[in-house]
Amino acid sequence: MITPRLTRLFRVPTLAAFRTTLADWITALLPHDARDTFVLVPTQAAAEQLRRTVEAHLAATGRTAIVWPILGTRRDLYDELAARMRQPVARLNAFEREVILAGVSRDLCHGGVTPPFELRPGLVAEMLALYDHIRRLGRGIEDFERNFREELEREQETDRGAAKLLQQTLFLAAAYRAYEQRVAASGRLDEHGLRKALEEDAARPLRRVIVTVADRIAEAEGLWPADYNVLTMLPRLDALDFLCTESVLAAGLLERLYAALPEISEERGVVSTRGLPTLVTRPATKVADAPPIAAAYRDREDELVAAARRIKTEQRSQSLPLDRYALVVRRPLPYLYLARDVFADAGIPFETLDTLPLAAEPYAAAIDLVLDAAATDFTRASLLGLLRSPHFGLRAQAETSELESSIGALDFALADERYLGGLDRLEQLVVRWSAIEAPTTRVERRQKTAVTAARIVLNAARQIAPLALSRPLSQQIATLLGWLRTFDAPPRETDSTASRRARVRAAVVGALSALSDAHRRHDPAAHADVVTFTAAIRRWLGSQTFASFTGSPGLQIVEAQAAKYGEFDDIQVVGLIEGEWPERVRRNVLYPSSLLSLLEPLPAIADPSRRERDALNGARAAFKDLLLSAHQRVRLSTFALENDAVVEPSILLDDVGSFGLPRAVAEDARARVSYSEALAIEPREIGQLPTSMAAWAAARISGTARDPADFQGRAGAWVLPRVSVSRLERYLDCPFRFYASEVLRLEEQPEDEDARTPLERGLFLHNLWERFFSEWQRRGHGRVTPDALPEARALFEQLCETALATLTPAEASLERARLLGSAVNPGIAHRVFAMEADRPVRIIERLLEFPLQGDFTFRTRDGLSRLVPLSAKADRIDLLEDGTIRVIDYKSKNTPDLKRALQLPIYSMCARDKLAGRGGRNWSLSEPLYLSFEGERAVVPFRVKGRTIDELLDEAQDRLLQTLDDIASGAFPARPSKKSLCGPCSYRTVCRLEIVEADEGDAT
Ligand code: SF4
Repeated sequence: MITPRLTRLFRVPTLAAFRTTLADWITALLPHDARDTFVLVPTQAAAEQLRRTVEAHLAATGRTAIVWPILGTRRDLYDELAARMRQPVARLNAFEREVILAGVSRDLCHGGVTPPFELRPGLVAEMLALYDHIRRLGRGIEDFERNFREELEREQETDRGAAKLLQQTLFLAAAYRAYEQRVAASGRLDEHGLRKALEEDAARPLRRVIVTVADRIAEAEGLWPADYNVLTMLPRLDALDFLCTESVLAAGLLERLYAALPEISEERGVVSTRGLPTLVTRPATKVADAPPIAAAYRDREDELVAAARRIKTEQRSQSLPLDRYALVVRRPLPYLYLARDVFADAGIPFETLDTLPLAAEPYAAAIDLVLDAAATDFTRASLLGLLRSPHFGLRAQAETSELESSIGALDFALADERYLGGLDRLEQLVVRWSAIEAPTTRVERRQKTAVTAARIVLNAARQIAPLALSRPLSQQIATLLGWLRTFDAPPRETDSTASRRARVRAAVVGALSALSDAHRRHDPAAHADVVTFTAAIRRWLGSQTFASFTGSPGLQIVEAQAAKYGEFDDIQVVGLIEGEWPERVRRNVLYPSSLLSLLEPLPAIADPSRRERDALNGARAAFKDLLLSAHQRVRLSTFALENDAVVEPSILLDDVGSFGLPRAVAEDARARVSYSEALAIEPREIGQLPTSMAAWAAARISGTARDPADFQGRAGAWVLPRVSVSRLERYLDCPFRFYASEVLRLEEQPEDEDARTPLERGLFLHNLWERFFSEWQRRGHGRVTPDALPEARALFEQLCETALATLTPAEASLERARLLGSAVNPGIAHRVFAMEADRPVRIIERLLEFPLQGDFTFRTRDGLSRLVPLSAKADRIDLLEDGTIRVIDYKSKNTPDLKRALQLPIYSMCARDKLAGRGGRNWSLSEPLYLSFEGERAVVPFRVKGRTIDELLDEAQDRLLQTLDDIASGAFPARPSKKSLCGPCSYRTVCRLEIVEADEGDAT
């Protein structure tokens, strides 16, 4: 039944006239008309901007109240029409539709009809998007199959890609038919079924629909051919009014509107008398140049900082309310995240009404922690992630301070145990650690502390362990939802984000519940293991949005689509780069646009290049409208770097010169505007800070008389409890690292190791060589001469096998190859024996793990002497027949820089003193040397060209005493002996190396 109706196009010259026309229409509606009038806008944010514009219009005319029409998006229009039907209709939600399509596609695959791609959640979503595309163009599946098949069958002889696309087409056509049958059988309607039903049903009709959006060619949220059809077929609709600006119509929309709605009549909307805004630009960098159209910044943050500086400066001298300023963005992210920091620091309140991706919210991201824990079989990192997440209430199950230390201890205890995952293993550890009553070692103390956190996380992990199995998807979701309910973190009283988190949580739980219902109802057979389940959840959360309505009334951060509904005096369009203005068109992943063109109902835009040209012209027209819509002034800005990659300015900037805007030139504001600038630039202005910050800043500033050294590593006098030369070498590597590990006793973040740590391996090698040489000497041997090599090797192999029996089979086999060598590597044994064989002087005695305990006298080159108590052990000292001693330091791999080394020269001196008189002889030093088991050079003598050994020992004594003095004075600057130490260093985030280096740079 087609009802006679008015289909009118109202043409307006500008967005100002567009808004005035809309406000006039809305405020003129009688109450009973308003309830049956729908104003179609692109987004909810646009609806809110329009509401504010109309309220301002009302206030200006002295009226206080109206009955509002329905303001909504295209989707809201369908919801409203469905709600007005005589017979209430059950609708399929997006979850159900995708689940149905996934189910029928899987059944087809099982029946032998396969696509040329693997069915994944993301691809099912693309299939559904293509189905909607076909149906919204007003086409059926027969049209799709016939058109594509004919085209592809023609090409498949010559094009292998066409054969694949043909297979894909046959599969998709079969899947879409099966989907439609399944939908029909469900008794529910999707968008396309609803359109059909609406043609006959008009219980409570809409009387008037005001369309303020363009079509889908010119605008992402615009109308499709099927939407025009349904609007023209709606029973008892009296008026269908389109409101458009002249520039958008001229960009191709007018031609397309007449093609879709031949009966449309034209009317003129309000004519605006307001003048053009002024385009404010920066001055040219060179006198001869014209001022640039857009201000260019380094990156988005730089751009926002400049905007904050300008707005705050203007606020000091003008009375323009903040909500009359708009920063227009193409998409809210990432500007919204940057704005939270930049505008908060500048004390500028801001507001945004747009939706954000749900997946970008911290609570939604935390779901990954749960899924990761199950997917990785509960590794140490994933368990710690669950315990430490503020979104989950695992911590609520124990007293806070006890649990904090328990979590820290668990981190190290699991690493010590080489725990690599597995709930059975974790359970065994919990049982073993729970049995420790009176710990006797450091390791046991740590395990006893860790057991509280271990029990809590074991209990939590057990409840999500079933996720690792392949189970029905509805069961997987039920397990996840149950866990999220059980372990939800109670909101903290001080948490300012509690209400936002609660809304995000409700949205996540709602999405998961809807997905679960959809599977239970339409595809109970669908199974998923944790990997497939994780992919499905990520896809779903990634496709949901969340109404952020962020901030407090103030500066407006508005998406371009919503900006045309708001009244702003000052507009700055930001982020004008290629790919964003205009937004890059998203390509269909299943078919090239040339094939999709076969479905276009309007011959005029069947050519893909024509569609692209029309889309670009539409974007240009909308951009022009936006710039001209500011009441007073407009600014444009772009930037050069996005994540360190160079980006190009938008091509839309090329058009601005032809808009006829009056120009003004203004320098960027230079005044300090942010709290950080108030503190960082002299003279500091504490008075500009909020009270809480000002008190803290005053306390810091009053301490400016403090010595800068206090900020460069001076920590106050400290007494080294026990002089160990290896610890002093640690100080020389980096004093701050020494401070963190030795003074503060902060342990470095443990690593997950499935093999022995370097320290454990070093001990293994030391012990093995000690056993070998003890036995070698006990058998009456001295030096390992070339003749004795076979016997030495046989003995070593024998001892080696005994030692290797203590390792796991995998480690033993690796270590055997390293020790005894292989066809390509001579092995560690060969290195050690070769060192002995190459040195002809007979060894009288070997002293292994020789203790160097007691007070030793060290002298500086200035003649000062000092007694230092030492507690050390030399790896090996050989007493040689010629009356000399050879001190050997074993190294697993790398040998230290000889100019910084302490251990070998100091041990050599101490050994010489300690051995004086042994065997009735006074021993002199022959050659201190490093024996590296696996380094580039096996033997590294302690020798520096042009220096005698005594000179090197004198230098080492100087170094030793100076290091002791530095430690005692509390000098612990971040000063790595070589930069490569910083890469893997655990204290990187706290040592403030950059600040120290910057200060040193300033000083030079
Ligand atoms: S990162 Fe570098 S400077 Fe900082 S503590 Fe570690 S080694 Fe020292």
